Amino acid sequence: MNNIKKIAVMTSGGDSPGMNAAIRSVVRACAYYKTECIGIYRGYQGMIDGDFVNLNARSVNNIINKGGTILKSARSTLFRTKAGRALAYEHLQKSQIDALVVIGGDGSFTGGVVFNKEYNFPIIGIPGTIDNDIFGTSHTIGYDTALNTAVEAIDKIRDTASSHKRLFFVEVMGRDAGFIALNAGVGSGAEEILIPEENLGLDRLLQSLKKSKKSGKSSSIVVVAEGHKTGENVYQLAKYVEDNLPEYEVRVSVLGHMQRGGSPSCFDRVLASRLGVKAVELLLEGKSNVMVGIKDNSVIITDLEKAIKGNHEISIELLKVSDIMTT
Ligand code: ATP
Repeated sequence: MNNIKKIAVMTSGGDSPGMNAAIRSVVRACAYYKTECIGIYRGYQGMIDGDFVNLNARSVNNIINKGGTILKSARSTLFRTKAGRALAYEHLQKSQIDALVVIGGDGSFTGGVVFNKEYNFPIIGIPGTIDNDIFGTSHTIGYDTALNTAVEAIDKIRDTASSHKRLFFVEVMGRDAGFIALNAGVGSGAEEILIPEENLGLDRLLQSLKKSKKSGKSSSIVVVAEGHKTGENVYQLAKYVEDNLPEYEVRVSVLGHMQRGGSPSCFDRVLASRLGVKAVELLLEGKSNVMVGIKDNSVIITDLEKAIKGNHEISIELLKVSDIMTT
């Protein structure tokens, strides 16, 4: 017997395209299973402030294709304190909320685990982050869209790079994970890809660019993840290469927050729809403290603590493909 009569949903941490599709799915699944649904604005901060809204199946009309999140997102320092979490619990109690679906990244899941330990409050996590850095799912919601946005932008940069015979350093998001850089790099035919997981070394970079020039390439693209380990920031990296390879005219392009925006891809919409339904079904079955994810096109569940602590490894095979493609 489960006692879940009212489920709350929120988006937390960095926003990602497809979060709206996930909210819609949770709300519609609640309606389908005749369970009340509450939206919490601004993540954990909204929980502390009691910033709630009643949601029904019609509240989420026409949002499946919208970027961002209708519930807004936030990072809350207050929720990191016992006092903040006590306030949040008080508001949940007052509104008779029985369980929570958190759409976010590993920080948001950590907050969920801490809260569950303190108050034994049922929580399910849905991975929503463009970085794809969560263990227990091959894809996070928003990653596919961000990847396609990055590839589209790099394609455009390539047009201008080849017209002027320039070398472009293109920085993409990924402070700790190189999924966007590696996949966007391979997908856009980059000459080199610098990721946090691998230190290519400045010498190797110079040699590779020299080789590329010698082989007759007139322009080059180097895709750099924010958290790359080869040297300093992307501007210093570009200057180093310009100083050492004067034959190159070097430019830098930082894609930045545009990678978070835009209409979600079909892949992200479908993924979000599947994970939202599963999250509600699990809560109604009396499960808690797990994350829903996808593997080999099947929905799977992973303990939240495992999802936080585990490493989503970069593909060695893809690294090799990227090496071979730059020949
Ligand atoms: P992204 O991957 O896009 O950065 P995220 O979910 O990892 O998303 P964070 O800013 O790390 O984003 O975490 C979101 C929120 O989760 C924090 O602002 C905080 O309120 C809460 N949180 C994170 N870690 C803890 C913790 N140890 N204890 C309590 N709350 C936490």
